[in-house]
Amino acid sequence: MHTFSLAQLRAGLDRREFSSVELTQHFLGRIAAHDRLLNSFVTVTDDEALKAAHAADARIAAGSAGPLTGIPYAHKDIFCTQGVRTTCGSRMLRDFIAPYNATVHEKLQQGGAVMLGKTNMDEFAMGSTSESSHFGITRNPWNPDCVPGGSSGGSAAAVGARLAPVATGTDTGGSIRQPAAFCGITGIKPTYGRVSRYGMIAYASSLDQGGAMGASAEDCALLLQAMAGFDPLDSTSVDREVPDYRAALDADLTGLRIGLPREWFGEGLDAEVARVLEAALDEYRRLGAEVVDVSLPNSELAIPAYYVIAPAEASSNLSRYDGVRFGHRCEAPRDLEDLYKRSRGEGFGEEVKRRIMIGTYALSAGYYDAYYLKAQQIRRLIAEDFRRALSGVDVLMGPVAPFAAPAVGQMSEDPVQMYLSDIYTLSVNLAGLPGMSVPAGFAGGKPVGLQIIGNYFEEARLLNVAHRFQQATDWHTRVPAAFA
Ligand code: GLN
Repeated sequence: MHTFSLAQLRAGLDRREFSSVELTQHFLGRIAAHDRLLNSFVTVTDDEALKAAHAADARIAAGSAGPLTGIPYAHKDIFCTQGVRTTCGSRMLRDFIAPYNATVHEKLQQGGAVMLGKTNMDEFAMGSTSESSHFGITRNPWNPDCVPGGSSGGSAAAVGARLAPVATGTDTGGSIRQPAAFCGITGIKPTYGRVSRYGMIAYASSLDQGGAMGASAEDCALLLQAMAGFDPLDSTSVDREVPDYRAALDADLTGLRIGLPREWFGEGLDAEVARVLEAALDEYRRLGAEVVDVSLPNSELAIPAYYVIAPAEASSNLSRYDGVRFGHRCEAPRDLEDLYKRSRGEGFGEEVKRRIMIGTYALSAGYYDAYYLKAQQIRRLIAEDFRRALSGVDVLMGPVAPFAAPAVGQMSEDPVQMYLSDIYTLSVNLAGLPGMSVPAGFAGGKPVGLQIIGNYFEEARLLNVAHRFQQATDWHTRVPAAFA
């Protein structure tokens, strides 16, 4: 059952070939068997899952099942879930039980989906390797000596190993696309404003966006359908109808215009990864697409701009963890100052502290104009680059990351090296555009993702472009031998 698509699971449930309880037990059994190695979950919610599965079975029996009723999923531990702790990978929130549900969680619950547990992640979603979690590193199912990517590495590893059929993720600068690429699964980061951020713990609010991760574009379409939509509780949520993503999947690609950002295929891109992408583009040509060169001239400014803006917003967002209202509180504080210092000093890990320092510095009087304001101006230029590039083509395609999954420890030693590896994903968030990662092959036995970027609110188009590729190839169906 763990290799079934969501459509197959739906059909099986509706035809009573298996119950949601059986399905849920199957996945819980896989988690129990395999997650000691992967550490993709921070919290496994066995009891709650079985209760939800029973309720789903009743709903199916009553004939009132929705598309996801009875279908298990893994939830990134950044979405607030009433009654189940939400840690955000941090010691600061190790025992935090949110008093309310994230809108995304509420929607999935109401749809009758069955949460298997909360997945591991880089602390406060800061990172590209899932090594900064307070709950230990997550490993890549394709090669346990390698990282799964980050920050949604737990979700990606869980789906990659088929410990869950689908998972939620969030993407501030690549955190859905890059772990999806490293773990050989499909992931979509929607347009900023498409999925509610209410109850999604904030990292960098102007960049954060929730999205879907699954084996295939079709599975992502179904999950995203349930997550997306206007939410009055999120002031940056966009009031715009959500199209039927599944209905758009099969559209023919004849005449599709694909733009290749010239700057993304030069120096720095691993040769084997480049070969995989070339082969994927050939497949698109066979599907009737036309591939043309485009330019994103300010590409190399994405890293410096992002690594000013994201830490700046993070330093502001994370000021709420003061040891007073919620989160970690130090023992026996001497006075208020001591309470702040020790609670934050003990509660936050190294990478989070580094970002708070960078962000606070960039926002401080005297430096604000030189760093933060300048970064915002660059952000505008980057969005303008995309506008121009997308004016002549339907989608852009390129790498997700410069290389396949690095070894555990390789990046965590050198944060700048890690930041540099985000080169192809950050700019999409700076512009607020939707982006996807699609399994396209292997380099040195490790999965490689193809990135597809579209215009604002063109998620349906992206999913269609990915789906047609997946009809013609089988990369997305590959499961690591140890988890087959
Ligand atoms: N790697 C990037 C960062 O560390 C992106 C993380 C994310 O998208 N949450 O900020």
